[in-house]
Amino acid sequence: MTLPFSYYDLIEACAQPGCPVCSLLLRDAHRFIDSLLYEYVTKPSTNDTFRAARGLCNVHNWQLTRFGSQVLGIAILQDAALDEVLKLIEANPAQASSALSRWLGSNARPALADRLEPERPCPVCESVAETEKMYLDTLNTYLGNERFQSAFRDSAGLCLPHFRAALRQVADADALERLLTLQTTIWQQLKRELETFITKNDYRYAGDPMGVERDSWLRAISTLAGKDEVFGTRREK
Ligand SMILES: [Zn+2]
Ligand SMILES: [Zn+2]
Repeated sequence: MTLPFSYYDLIEACAQPGCPVCSLLLRDAHRFIDSLLYEYVTKPSTNDTFRAARGLCNVHNWQLTRFGSQVLGIAILQDAALDEVLKLIEANPAQASSALSRWLGSNARPALADRLEPERPCPVCESVAETEKMYLDTLNTYLGNERFQSAFRDSAGLCLPHFRAALRQVADADALERLLTLQTTIWQQLKRELETFITKNDYRYAGDPMGVERDSWLRAISTLAGKDEVFGTRREK
């Protein structure tokens, strides 16, 4: 049986802290941005994409700041998006009349605001959404596989957003049952750790050394919200 790359990727990601799907999506977003910045010279469509999308979404446009060595590409792509914004403002028909009539004048403001909205999704959000679907599909398909299941059992489990997405994608009753059992066991363990953490913070227990529960609050944030910066702001549900 040939197993897909995503199977091995997920097993590896299970050994990392936090949701394995989040870990892979962060890696993939980084790779996607990297190629976007490399290709901007050779691929004029990247320029058009930046114009139409008015740059990337909040999360992903800021992620560009991590690619310091490619700052020229970043500048050129941001310039394209800004150029598009300015062109749209200049093309505004209300621009011709006086400031006051422009202000009073009707539909011009909302219409301009609408035209300034992105005409296409953030390309990074788009690419992440695609790979996310693939990972969740692999997860649901292989959770019955012994090696995969054992890796998942030892992992931090899915974050709540990815658990919801996995539930929506799951194809049969057995897979659903497996997913529910494995994930619930992981969350119950985390809940116990949170409660130990809370108890040990009580003054009556002051001095009790902390164990694995030390960072349970942080892991709870991560599992309820998903990893930091993994969900772009223009992502569809
Ligand atoms: Zn996740
Ligand atoms: Zn995005």
